[in-house]
Amino acid sequence: MEEQLKKSDTLTVVGELAAGIAHEIRNPMTALKGFIQLLQNSLNENQYDTYFDVITSELKRIESIITEFLVLAKPQAISYQRKNASVIMKETLDLLSAQASLENVQFASYFEEGVPDIYCEPNQLKQVFINILKNAIEVMPKGGTVSIALQRVEGQEILISIKDEGIGIPEDKLKKLGEPFYTTKERGTGLGLMVSYKIVEEHNGTIEVISEVGVGTTFHIKLPIGSPTSH
Ligand code: ADP
Ligand code: MG
Repeated sequence: MEEQLKKSDTLTVVGELAAGIAHEIRNPMTALKGFIQLLQNSLNENQYDTYFDVITSELKRIESIITEFLVLAKPQAISYQRKNASVIMKETLDLLSAQASLENVQFASYFEEGVPDIYCEPNQLKQVFINILKNAIEVMPKGGTVSIALQRVEGQEILISIKDEGIGIPEDKLKKLGEPFYTTKERGTGLGLMVSYKIVEEHNGTIEVISEVGVGTTFHIKLPIGSPTSH
């Protein structure tokens, strides 16, 4: 309880406002999507299909911005608990398996046995894994392997590595990672890593990125095996 209070202390007025606005935007969005679908179904000709494609993809874009935003702006849902990060990672990989296979990407995962639980907010951690894995998939347009490893290091920490075979990140761009709205993608939001860095920071963890242009990128996420008191 004490921990939750401490976390919610970091909640700003702006954050509360943002959460409220995000929810308010979601409702009309749902109505819009429904009526656009009805409209498309009642028009027999296909001549407007490209318009509908644009409308649908722009709506999706608004949705993904709001979803990423909500993670930041919804601290009231935070509930820290003892959980095994392997379980969260396995759930995440299941969640993304369809998208990965569509993109010819395969996951190769290694989970060290007997890795202790961590004290965490599972949904937020899942969001971090989703964001980093999605980026990994997106930088391999021709497909490839994303290697995931989860192990205990230096006694008191766990290390989660996510390695891709993508385009890599030039050295001078590495420091831009996690900056709000930094994106090199035509349809990117530039919010995924910012959210991820913030969540990991709140867990007293660190993210380190190692990359080589044309070879690939590895994200190293370290999280403490702490108890609530040491958190
Ligand atoms: P978005 O994916 O919407 O662009 P992110 O915050 O997730 O926003 O990522 C920001 C930027 O960081 C990306 O646009 C890309 O330039 C770079 N990036 C992130 N992950 C990788 C990766 N695995 N390989 C290469 N570049 C990456
Ligand atoms: Mg992203």
